Amino acid sequence: MNIDATIGTYLTTGALPELPADHFIAGAWTAPAANQRMETFDAGLGKPFHDFAAGNAEDVDRAVTSAHEAQAAWGRTKASARGAILSRAAALLREEAAWFAFVESLDSGKPLQEAEGDVAGAARAFEYYGGAADKIEGDTFPIGDAYLGYSEPEPVGVTAHIIPWNFPISTAARGIAPALAAGCTVVAKPAETTPLTMLMLGELLVRAGLPAGVCNVVTGTGADAGAALVSHPRVRHITFTGSVPTGQGVMQAASRHVASVVLELGGKSPLVVLADAALDQAADGVIGAIYENAGQVCSAGSRLIVERGAHDALLERVLARVAALRMGHGLRRSTLGPLNSEPHLQRVTAKVDAAKARGLAPIAGGSTAADPETGSGWFFEPTIFDDVPSDDPVVQDEIFGPVLAVQIAEDAEDATRLANCTDYALVAGIYTNNFSAAHRMARDIDAGQVFINEYFAGGIEVPFGGNRMSGFGREKGLAAMHNYLRVKSIAAKIG
Ligand code: NAD
Repeated sequence: MNIDATIGTYLTTGALPELPADHFIAGAWTAPAANQRMETFDAGLGKPFHDFAAGNAEDVDRAVTSAHEAQAAWGRTKASARGAILSRAAALLREEAAWFAFVESLDSGKPLQEAEGDVAGAARAFEYYGGAADKIEGDTFPIGDAYLGYSEPEPVGVTAHIIPWNFPISTAARGIAPALAAGCTVVAKPAETTPLTMLMLGELLVRAGLPAGVCNVVTGTGADAGAALVSHPRVRHITFTGSVPTGQGVMQAASRHVASVVLELGGKSPLVVLADAALDQAADGVIGAIYENAGQVCSAGSRLIVERGAHDALLERVLARVAALRMGHGLRRSTLGPLNSEPHLQRVTAKVDAAKARGLAPIAGGSTAADPETGSGWFFEPTIFDDVPSDDPVVQDEIFGPVLAVQIAEDAEDATRLANCTDYALVAGIYTNNFSAAHRMARDIDAGQVFINEYFAGGIEVPFGGNRMSGFGREKGLAAMHNYLRVKSIAAKIG
C-alpha cells in the first residue's frame, strides 16, 4: 500500500481503505452482542470517520471465556515457541508499520512521525519480550541434604489490559508482549476514542502464529466494556493506564476477585534546568517534554523548574522554539497536533481559563485554535505560564495538554524541593553539567524514572512507572515480567 497516496486520498476525499469494525475474539472478527456501534473521530478535522463495536458485558464475557479456554495450552507452550511468535509479530509490525502509523495518527490525532515512533516502539516491545520469554528461570532453595527445594514461575492466567488514548499501540504492546511472553492470555480494551490499532494488533498476532483466543480485543466505553472486564471473576491481573479516579475504581473492582493490578496513572513531572546546563539542549528537551503529542503524555514534563540565573536565557530559547511549532492535522506531519477529543479540549480549556481567572497571564498561547489549513479541529495553542506559585493548580493538577508551568528555583536544593511539591511522582528530568548535583537530585526527587540531560531517554529496557498518586508497579524492562508471573515453590523430602 502506498501510504502517501492513501493519506492524500483521505485528506482530499475522506475515502479510507477498510478498517476493523468488530471485536476480535477467539481469533475472529465478532459482531457486538447487542449490535450497538459507536463512532471514532478525526481530531484534526473534528469529525467522525468510522464506526466500531460498542461492547457490553456479554462481549467481555465471550472474550474472557475465550482467553480462559486458551490459557492452559498457551501457558504450557514451550517458552522459546512463545518467544518465536512474539518475534514474528515484531517483524510483521515493522513490515506493516506505515499502515499502522497512518491509522494511529488518524485515530489519535497525533503527528504521523510521532505515530511512526510509537509503532517502532511497539515492534521493539514484541522483539524484547520475545527474547525474554525463554530466559525466565526459577530458583533452588538450600533446605538440607534430605530435601529438594525449588521454584517455578507460572503465568498468572487471564490478564486484562485497559489502554489509554494517548499512546494506544505502544501502551498496548508494552503490556501485552510481556504477558504473552510469560504464558498469560489477554483481553484488551482500547480507549473509546482510539480503538483501531489495538484491533489491528490482535489480528496481526494471529497471523504471527498466536493461537486463536490467546489475545482478544473488545472495544466500547469504559463504563460498559471496561468496567465489565476489570470486574470479571476470571481475570487474574489488570494492567491499567489512565486517570487517577478511573484507576482507583479499577483497583476496587479488582479487589472483589483479589486480582493483582498495575496502575499507571497521571503525572505532573518536573524538568529541572540548573544554571550551568547547556541551555540549547535543555530548551530542546523542554519542547519535546511538553509539546510531544500536544502534552497528552502521562510522563510529560509539564513543570519547568529553572534556576533563577538561567531563567531569562532559557525562556528566550523556549519561546523561540514555541514560535517555530507547526500546528496542523497530524497526517500532514505537523509538529503540534490536535487534542484527542472535543471533551478533552474542553477540559484543557477550562483549566487554562480558570488559571487566567485567578490572575495568571500566559506568556505564550492560552487559547483554543484551529488547523490553519482547514480552519477546523480540536487544537490548543502551546501555552506557558511563567513564575507560577507552587500551590497553584497549574502546578499541582495534571492538565494533559500543551500547557507548561514554569517555577523558579534559587539553587539545586530548592529545585529538588519544588520538584517534590505535588502529589504525583512519575518521572523527572534534570539538565546540568554538574555530575554530582545531577545524581544527588536523581536520588532525592521522588519519581519512578529520572532522565539526565535528555528528557525521555531510555527505551523498552528501562522499567517505567510511578510512585504515590502516579500509581504503582512497573512496566517495561524485565521488571514487567513479574506482573504476569507468580512463583510456585516446591519442597520435597528425597532422602
Ligand atoms: P480514563 O482513565 O477514564 O480512561 C482510560 C481508559 O480507562 C480507557 O480505555 C477507558 O475506556 C477506560 N475506563 C474508563 N472507565 C473505566 C471503568 N470504570 N472500568 C474500566 N476501564 C475504564 O481517562 P479519560 O477520561 O480518557 O481521560 C481523562 C484524564 O485521564 C486525562 O485528562 C488525563 O489526565 C488522564 N489520562 C492519563 C493517561 C496516562 O497515560 N496516564 C492516559 C489517558 C488519560
